[in-house]
Amino acid sequence: MRILRTPLKRVLKKYFAANNMRYISTRGGMPPKTFSEILLSGLASDGGLAMPEAYPCIGSAELEKWRGLSYPQLAFEILTRFADDIPATDLRDIIKRTYTAGIFHSKEITPLKTLAPGLHILGLSNGPTLAFKDIAMQLLGNLFEYALAKTGEELNILGATSGDTGSSAEYAMRGKRGIRVFMLSPHGKMSLFQTAQMFSLQDPNILNIAIRGVFDDCQDIVKAVSNDHAFKQKYHIGTVNSINWARVAAQIVYYFKGYFAATRSNVEQVSFAVPSGNFGNICAGHVARMMGLPIRRLILATNENDVLDEFFRSGCYRPRTTAETQHTSSPSMDISKASNFERFMFDLTGRDAAKIKELWRAVDKSVAFNLADTPLWEKVKDFGIVSGTSNHAARIATIRKLHQQYGVLVDTHTADGIKVGLEQREAGVPLICLETALPVKFSESIIEAIGQEPERPPGYENLENLPQRYVVMDADTDAVKAFIAEQV
Ligand SMILES: *Cc1c(COP(=O)(O)O)cnc(C)c1O
Repeated sequence: MRILRTPLKRVLKKYFAANNMRYISTRGGMPPKTFSEILLSGLASDGGLAMPEAYPCIGSAELEKWRGLSYPQLAFEILTRFADDIPATDLRDIIKRTYTAGIFHSKEITPLKTLAPGLHILGLSNGPTLAFKDIAMQLLGNLFEYALAKTGEELNILGATSGDTGSSAEYAMRGKRGIRVFMLSPHGKMSLFQTAQMFSLQDPNILNIAIRGVFDDCQDIVKAVSNDHAFKQKYHIGTVNSINWARVAAQIVYYFKGYFAATRSNVEQVSFAVPSGNFGNICAGHVARMMGLPIRRLILATNENDVLDEFFRSGCYRPRTTAETQHTSSPSMDISKASNFERFMFDLTGRDAAKIKELWRAVDKSVAFNLADTPLWEKVKDFGIVSGTSNHAARIATIRKLHQQYGVLVDTHTADGIKVGLEQREAGVPLICLETALPVKFSESIIEAIGQEPERPPGYENLENLPQRYVVMDADTDAVKAFIAEQV
């Protein structure tokens, strides 16, 4: 495979070679900025997404050295290349406090489970909220606190959640100095487990707002508040959405960690199966591959909401409407468009910001673009991404099959990834399936698959009976604004 990869690297030479890392926008309208400058901002000023000007290139000598590192050591080696304006001692300290056995329940942080020779599950869901988002969000909490302490500023994070993202953000930001979280969720529409996870937090800086409405009502309020620039500025409103570059960067680490755990030498290749929604997780895999990690395939799995699978099969990217977006039993993958996909397209076009601007003029209006029969479509295969789709019956069958065959229990999202991963794996190439949540979060589907309740990890036995702290409000932007103003 080395023979195949060499010309690819030559073609992609322009992506590499960085000393001082600067970040640019996928749409070309942002002057180069440092990591700290983009850390707290959402979209770039031109509406695009921040990207490193060049990816660090990891040679075989470095890979060899990294093989033996612990998770925090590896995280430092990788993140210091992206966050090179944070002094090394500070960054090392932040990472050491983030990736602990206390928070992630094992020294490996992301333990690899081998089901059969060449078939592995990488456990990314052992953080406080039992989903993979904790890995990036826990780091973000500490990075935000560090950055705010330096400038003496405050940040009020406003978000909308239907489950995983909100709780992950709250557990990452609880007790952090200079930060408050205002999290909107649809009243009575999350699972009891998810609701209890969020509402049982008693930290004064975590404010749960249950909105009488659906998730889209919550999201509309967040958008309306964010569009009120005067209010946003006065109350230092920010977000923690999945387009934040630091989140992508943090996720690069476990691709390296998983690779080292599943192989014996750095000439071997592996493929990853990635349950995908907003393209954040697989975007980190793409970056790891661009940095030189020997990844053969990144296998993208969608659920019934197959906007990404459609693109990687046909070249047509067609954002869905809200009405077309289905509510499924792998709800964290229920998306209508994939925000981080713009980052991949930036690389696919050879970092042609003008082209991205043109394509996203359509996407931002929910209009499709089609690369079929264009030279760009030919290039997609150089990036190693293949895709497939899953559905409720397939994920239930996969959960049941894995339970019978290997005695392991996986959640619905992980099952979608494994289903597609097994379809797309190649003989002789180890497959690492990313576990993005624990089964206990989706017990209804687990009962459907195996006829019994999933086991609860220690510490979660009594969750639903803990006292809850939240306010209930109508879907009214002004009321939410007034509540924020009162608390700040
Ligand atoms: C967020 C999430 C996903 C999708 O990840 P993306 O980075 O949005 O592609 C998959 N599974 C679970 C459990 C999640 O919480």
